[in-house]
This record gives sequence, C-alpha cells and structure tokens, in this order.
Amino acid sequence: MTGHTWKNWAGNQIARPAEYLAPRTIDELRSVVLRAAESGLRVKCVGAGHSFTSIAVTDGVQVSLDMLYGIESVVPGADGSTLVTVLAGTRLRELTARLWDLGLAMTNLGDIDSQSVAGAISTGTHGTGARFGGLATQVRALEILTADGQLINCSAMFDTDLFDAARVGIGALGIITKVTLACEPAFALHAVEAPATLDGTLAHLDESVSGVDHFEFYWFPHTDRVLTKRNTRLPADTPLSPLGSVRAYIDDELLSNTVFEVVNRAVTRFPRATPRINMFSARALSAREFTDRSYRVFASSRTVRFREMEYAVPAESTTYVLREIDRWLESSAVTVAFPVEVRFAAGDDIWLSTAYGRDTAYIAVHQYHRVDHREYFDAVEAIARSVGGRPHWGKLNSLRAEEFAGTYEHFDDFCDIRDKFDPDRLFDNEYLQQRLRK
Ligand SMILES: Cc1cc2nc3c(=O)[nH]c(=O)nc-3n(C[C@H](O)[C@H](O)[C@H](O)COP(=O)(O)OP(=O)(O)OC[C@H]3O[C@@H](n4cnc5c(N)ncnc54)[C@H](O)[C@@H]3O)c2cc1C
Repeated sequence: MTGHTWKNWAGNQIARPAEYLAPRTIDELRSVVLRAAESGLRVKCVGAGHSFTSIAVTDGVQVSLDMLYGIESVVPGADGSTLVTVLAGTRLRELTARLWDLGLAMTNLGDIDSQSVAGAISTGTHGTGARFGGLATQVRALEILTADGQLINCSAMFDTDLFDAARVGIGALGIITKVTLACEPAFALHAVEAPATLDGTLAHLDESVSGVDHFEFYWFPHTDRVLTKRNTRLPADTPLSPLGSVRAYIDDELLSNTVFEVVNRAVTRFPRATPRINMFSARALSAREFTDRSYRVFASSRTVRFREMEYAVPAESTTYVLREIDRWLESSAVTVAFPVEVRFAAGDDIWLSTAYGRDTAYIAVHQYHRVDHREYFDAVEAIARSVGGRPHWGKLNSLRAEEFAGTYEHFDDFCDIRDKFDPDRLFDNEYLQQRLRK
C-alpha cells in the first residue's frame, strides 16, 4: 500500500513509508525484503506500534506481521518448561489467553498486553519481580529472516552470537519470523494493592521487593503518597476471586482512565493545582485485593495518552534516584500529574538487555501527551545516567552511540553481528543511526 500514514500509540511518531505491507506468509515476506533490497529501499518491521521512540519509523518499506500470527507448536522443553513456538506477529493478548487454555503461561508480563511478541522482546519489554527477567529471557530460539533472504534458526546451541544479540535486537538485525518461548504451567495471581507513603516504602524496600513474587509501586509526584502492588503466584486451580465488574470498571476504567483524562486536562490548564490533585488521585485509588488468572492481573488497559521515559538503574540506586527526582521537582516549576512507576527485575545475560548483568530497578516517568515532557525527562535522564542508567529501547531517551558503547559491555559485539548480517543496512532507520555504530 502506498500513501499510507502510520502513527504510534502515543501519537508522537509518524511515518509516511514508501510502501506499507502485511505479508501473509514467510515466503511473501522474503520476497518483500529481497525486492526492497533490489530497489534500494530500507525495510522496517512494525509490531503494535507501542514504542514511544522512532524505533519503528521508516520512509522505506514498513512491514507489519499482523497476518503472521498464532501458535505453531507446543513441545516439552529439557528443563521442565514447555516450548511454545509462535509466529512473530502474534499479539501478547491473544497468546496469553491461548496459553491459559493449554494450561500454560508467560512467566511475566508488562502492564499492557497489546504488543506483538517480536516487538515486545526486541525492545526489552519487562514486568516486575526481583526473581524474574524481562520477556526476552523466556526466548529459547528465534527464526530470523536476514537481509540476503536467508532464514536462520538461532538458539543457545546454534548461531549463539546472533541469538545473544537478537533476543533484544532493536529491529537492527533482520525480521524475526518465529519465536520459541519457554512457558510454564498456568498460574493465578493474588493481587494486593494498598496506599502507603514514599518514606515508608523506601525504608522497607528490600523486604518488599524480595518478600513477594511481583512487587511494584507508583509514587505520586509532589506528594509523599504511593500505591503499592504485591502479586503472589498461586496454582492455576486456586479458586479465583476477580474484581467485580463494577469495582473493576470504577477503578480501572473510571479512576485510572476516564477520570484521569479529566484530571490531566485540568492540570494542563491549572498546573499549580497538581500537588493537591495528585494527593486526591492517590487517595482515590484505595486498597483492593483480588485473585485472577496471571495474565489478567499483570496487564490492564491504558486509554489516557502519554509520553514515557524509563531508565533501568542498578537496584540499589532506587532510593537515591527517587529522592533526586523529588528534589528536582521541588526546585523546578514543572508539574507532573502522572505517577512515577517503579519496578524490579533480575539481571540477565542478553547483550542489549537493560538488565544485562545486574539486578535492576526500572523507574518510569510519564507526562500527559498535551504537556511538554522535555524538561522533566531531561532532568530524570541526567539523574538516572549518573548511576549508570540504561534507557528502555522503546521509550523516549536522548542517548547516542558513544553513550551506549560505554553502557553495554557487548555493544561492539552487537554492532559486529549487525555488520555481518546487515552489512548494507537494509534494516536501518534514523533511530538506529543515532544509537549504533555506523
Ligand atoms: C501504554 C504502554 C504501556 C507499556 N508498558 C510497558 C511495560 O509495562 N513494560 C515495558 O517494558 N514496556 C512497556 N511499553 C513499551 C512496549 O512494550 C515496547 O515499546 C514494545 O516494543 C512495543 O511492542 P510493539 O509490538 O508495539 O513493537 P513496535 O513498537 O511496533 O516495534 C518495536 C521494535 O521492534 C521491532 N520489531 C517489531 N517486530 C519485529 C520483528 N518481527 N522482527 C524484528 N524486529 C521487529 C520494530 O522494528 C521496532 O524496532 C509500553 C508501551 C505503551 C504504549
């Protein structure tokens, strides 16, 4: 399709590709790639368009894998897990529901499930839980279509360098066509959400993070108010007690989405009211407890549009970073109605994973889409960088190749793999030009 205009979820990235295509088979996809290479056009795959950065933007051929979806095989894995191979365009929402029917589950998820499997792993999408890695740590094998039209299967046994690079491959190495995930038996989550103070939460942070399977908290800027979330894993046959539909509607749709949209419009017009409104928002989200299927607890809907930046910092820096953000907000005229989200993950061994080699805290800042986020994000970025923070590949950041080179031990190895598999930069775009070696 020509004349197509593409926008990401947040509406801050626009592409007018020369062509927009959604191939129905892997052979068709290969023809698209070879034809583009011949005609000198670049190729960029797009998943669900849920990255805030220009990572999926191209003026060449934009390829959607929306027609390449579904579970291809389910086989027992060597380590007691079950290996599930899915076509790369499969959306997490469809996958998790299908897995439940098979008695299986993803180990962890982020707070939405709209993403495609390949798009989610490519940027290092993660959830929370100190014992658990991001989604890419569940990947056991990848099938990748490279620039010369080859289909390569890589894993910890074959083409291991490509595997280490491509699990969080930021769309730079080729088009992932299939992903094999190590899934575990289905499980339920018991969720306990409660208001708290920032001081109290930080004072007992280590116990909270290690004391429950999945701990996270939201801090309301300009206040000392926090909402904590503790999710505990239970067997799948535990009797479920999901939120009643009325309570779910009031909390998740009205308070978190509809009312929050109104709140954001109000503080955009009257920024000085933000601290009082944040205090009100924090109080409005009262304690609640429920048990449901894991994927229904992990993910929820987000309808208020925002911009987001998220930094992965060493877990032990969490308190310092939050205190510095608080101090900066106190001394600046910037007001923020969106809570700061704080999550945790185990270190991993994936070359460009934001949690590479260290237990990690993720500190995410948001700003309503009608408000200029730059001053706030720049300040938080400087604070996070001062403790060796690494930006989420799909969320706004201003880092350049030299800074990434000093941040990731395997940055050069990643760039070498890219030189090998995409020497002519078929899969390049401006985002990658700024962040990888030329
Ligand atoms: C409301 C909202 C909530 C979010 N919550 C979280 C969260 O809780 N945790 C978290 O970590 N992140 C979160 N994110 C960020 C999101 O998970 C990532 O940006 C993710 O990459 C989006 O997946 P996508 O399918 O939309 O990929 P896209 O944004 O479309 O693409 C991302 C990258 O993947 C590449 N890609 C896509 N498909 C392929 C393929 N088949 N082969 C090779 N490369 C490919 C693209 O070229 C691009 O480089 C959130 C984003 C939004 C908008």
